[in-house]
Amino acid sequence: MPTTAIVWLRRDLRLNDNPALLHARLRYQRVIPACIPVIATGDAAAAPRAVDAWRRYALQGLAEQLQSLGSDLIVRPADTALAGLRALIRETGAHAVFWNRRYEPDAIKTDGDIKHSLRALGLTVKSFKGGLLYEPWEIQTQHGKPFRVFTPFWKRLLNNLSATGGASAVRALPAPDALPPIPHPLRSRHNADYAPRPQDAALAARWHWPPTTAGAAQRIAHLRDRLQHYATQRDLPALDATACLSPYLHCGQLSPRQILAALPLTLPGAEPFIRQLAWREFSHHLLYHFPHTAHHPLDTRFEQFPWRDWADNADQLQAWRTGQTGIPLVDAGMRQLYATGWMHNRVRMAAASLLTKNLLIDWRIGAAWFMDKLVDADLAQNTLGWQWIAGCGADAAPYFRVFNPVRQGRKFDADGDYIKAWAPELARLPAKALHAPWTASAQTLSQAGVRLGVNYPHPIVDLSRSRQRALSAYDRIKTAA
Ligand code: FAD
Repeated sequence: MPTTAIVWLRRDLRLNDNPALLHARLRYQRVIPACIPVIATGDAAAAPRAVDAWRRYALQGLAEQLQSLGSDLIVRPADTALAGLRALIRETGAHAVFWNRRYEPDAIKTDGDIKHSLRALGLTVKSFKGGLLYEPWEIQTQHGKPFRVFTPFWKRLLNNLSATGGASAVRALPAPDALPPIPHPLRSRHNADYAPRPQDAALAARWHWPPTTAGAAQRIAHLRDRLQHYATQRDLPALDATACLSPYLHCGQLSPRQILAALPLTLPGAEPFIRQLAWREFSHHLLYHFPHTAHHPLDTRFEQFPWRDWADNADQLQAWRTGQTGIPLVDAGMRQLYATGWMHNRVRMAAASLLTKNLLIDWRIGAAWFMDKLVDADLAQNTLGWQWIAGCGADAAPYFRVFNPVRQGRKFDADGDYIKAWAPELARLPAKALHAPWTASAQTLSQAGVRLGVNYPHPIVDLSRSRQRALSAYDRIKTAA
């Protein structure tokens, strides 16, 4: 009778609502919860990303939780996931491997190949739905096709949720009450290599929320208290009014089912929040059905788009990356990102629009920077966000929409509190001038201690002229096949 199962943990670093773990617990005498980090080389080893720092804390937290149930997390780095799993199978004599599914193109390929190889060795292999409310193929148009536009996708998701009273999507599974002990020779050999390092701790000191499941629970409680204000305040970057759940969701310290179970559709104010969660579902839906979008535009006309060569405009790109564009809302956001790994969604949109539309720099350059710096860096959501802003993705609105960062600032950061927090050199400017210091009189600037070109940059681009340039560039591809 088969006795040992490995649970391969990846983007599901939690005990609650973890179908693969629960399945193993209910059917096997020995359960080996394992993480197989693929050994990084070259650039990836040299420059750890913010999201990887968060992951180290998530792994540490999961190991502690498993230990409290009598088990442990086995960390086995390897050159490939398959090599790591095979080594662990040999070490443990496991008969089965279980995991929760991932939906990114490379991960699907890896997981499919591994499933095939392990089954060929005679192992039982089974994967589960753990990271989404609905898997990408569970929501379809009436004609059985994937959605390409958000609003009908959202209506379908909402219908599905309402039709079942949310029951099927929100049934979050319990954590196992106990787990069998890990055989001693296996225990914690490599865990220290994947624990948070001093450079991770330096980053973590700047995060607003602890990178633990307890931190996620606190954020949910906070959100629940403020849910009725969510719709009106979620666009205001100076307030702590959004969920701040994206890094937990990315590492799977929290599942969307758990969120819905805690904040059901029936709760006053919940729907606008669940609509945001549906954007996350939509991003995975798109990447799954259109896997080329990780690197290419969904709207194929944009393959011909006349992006400016970023290498010829390296100074502008560098100014954008470091928050020195002279456009206060964008600078505040880019500095917040650089310092903390986080940026408010409204500001992400303004910053991405400046890069792709005013500076005409390819969205992929911006997306790569975000993937490097964001603590919630997620291929599906980042790709959707950038393509949506660049106008080449799943956007029902006309692609010639260009965000005006001055108007965005005046509307969503009217008193300038967000800008003042991240661009303190502008803090003494009156609100009217704060969002566009180059329009202020010499006297206003001098009274506020602002010296353009000295302690705050002149704008690197003329917003109005560059908008026209973007519209002309878009016109050139509009009629392309
Ligand atoms: P809230 O705004 O309160 O929303 C709740 C949850 O809904 C979020 O945690 C997130 O999971 C989901 N969500 C909200 N907005 C979006 C959206 N537009 N697209 C997809 N899911 C959404 N989000 C990431 O998690 N990782 C990324 O790498 C990422 N890159 C982005 C890049 C750009 C250019 C843009 C415009 C958006 C990006 N987003 C990304 C989406 C969004 O900005 C973040 O999910 C959101 O700011 C996270 O904050 P929150 O948890 O407080 O979310």
